[in-house]
Amino acid sequence: MLHKPSPVFDRIQEGVFTLPVIDCHEHMGGPRYMVPVREPIAALIDGYFKDDLLSAGTDLRTLRVLQDPDIPTERKWPVFEPIWKRARHTAYARVTTLILHDVYGEEEMSLAALHRVAEQLASRDEAFYWQVLDDANIRILLTDVLGLSPGNFEQYLGGEQTFPDRWRVTIPLPLFHVLHSVDIYTRSWEMSSSARDWPGVQLIGSWADRHITSLDEFLEAVFQVFGQAKARGAVGFKDQCAYMRSLRYALTPHCDAERIFNRLLADPRTVLGWPDAKPLDDLLCHQYMRFAREPDLPVQMHTGHMAGIYNRVDKANAAHLASVLELHQQVQFDLIHGNWPYMGDMLFLTKNYPNVVLNFAWLHIFDPLYAKEMLERAVVSAPHSKVHGFGGDYHDLPEYCAAHLKIARQVIASSLADLVECGWLQENEALDVAADWLFNNPNRFWKLGREPILRRGK
Ligand SMILES: [Zn+2]
Repeated sequence: MLHKPSPVFDRIQEGVFTLPVIDCHEHMGGPRYMVPVREPIAALIDGYFKDDLLSAGTDLRTLRVLQDPDIPTERKWPVFEPIWKRARHTAYARVTTLILHDVYGEEEMSLAALHRVAEQLASRDEAFYWQVLDDANIRILLTDVLGLSPGNFEQYLGGEQTFPDRWRVTIPLPLFHVLHSVDIYTRSWEMSSSARDWPGVQLIGSWADRHITSLDEFLEAVFQVFGQAKARGAVGFKDQCAYMRSLRYALTPHCDAERIFNRLLADPRTVLGWPDAKPLDDLLCHQYMRFAREPDLPVQMHTGHMAGIYNRVDKANAAHLASVLELHQQVQFDLIHGNWPYMGDMLFLTKNYPNVVLNFAWLHIFDPLYAKEMLERAVVSAPHSKVHGFGGDYHDLPEYCAAHLKIARQVIASSLADLVECGWLQENEALDVAADWLFNNPNRFWKLGREPILRRGK
């Protein structure tokens, strides 16, 4: 509960919970890729909660034990119980508590409850997956799955990998950068390749049926590949390079970038990396933005807080993107995660740039109070048409996504109730805003073609 009980809040919350949702950011591939679970503690600390366990001082070896489905629950419990007590009040832990309650019918974490959960794990089948999404009223799901397991961009381009009707995929731009993260604490992106080395460059070339012998040929190939992905159904781009590099993209002279790229071509054993390859990566990013303009595909970009621990958030501040947003005015940018903890910078970008929308994906569960404040401030400072209200940001763990959405609906209802109770909004206007945030805005922005939800006058 993020709002004191009141008749206004109760009515708004009831209305918000009836709204259908366009989920604006996931990493799901569909029911056939559902993450299997065989042991209750491992089942309940998946997703992001393990980051809080690490933050609370759990070492990596202990975490691996807790995640191991072959270690019995009673052996894990003496280790898990004190850690749970230390970290149980975070919003990630609240997702776990909601799953415990909503999926398994348990009121609180205990060894006895976990034994009862164990008996129900087998019921997590394909029908369960669909039921969870249907009950959550998720109508369309935008997913960044092609650059990470279980997605496979090459197979998608070739038509060998397809996804359910409800899915809309984005093109994974990190595959086309020259960067790669292998830090276990900040999560490897498991990219099998990127443009950082000869095999990666030639692999991208092969998707366009070309052998690459120059930077110009590489860029032509990339443009062709993006066109193929759009023809297959991709609705935009997704870029989370803020995990690996600063969002400050300089305008590099072509010759400087070419000099770096040529090192790969001159010696196929070369591997480019940060920070030496920054000028090349900067140029590629700007070029990809031009490529996004021509087929009119929006670009979804990671901002702010990153999954894992021991990363540096200052490099991920969306404020660094200002020159990109200003230069590429014909490209639509969907900036995700609320730029936590730099709220003011993100509100400025949303207000100041017509080509920016503010996407609350994942934000509701790493800081619901920030999300609530940001929604309120977004209403009064920027057109509410520029907010995308929800993205679960999970792999194929539908129950985590649904629990996250439940928290998101509470956050949205509490922010709107505040605005109604202080007289800024009428109650019926508040529900119109919620419908726009959760459905109508992303429907329009991503050109999904669904009938808008009209609530006015109800
Ligand atoms: Zn994500």
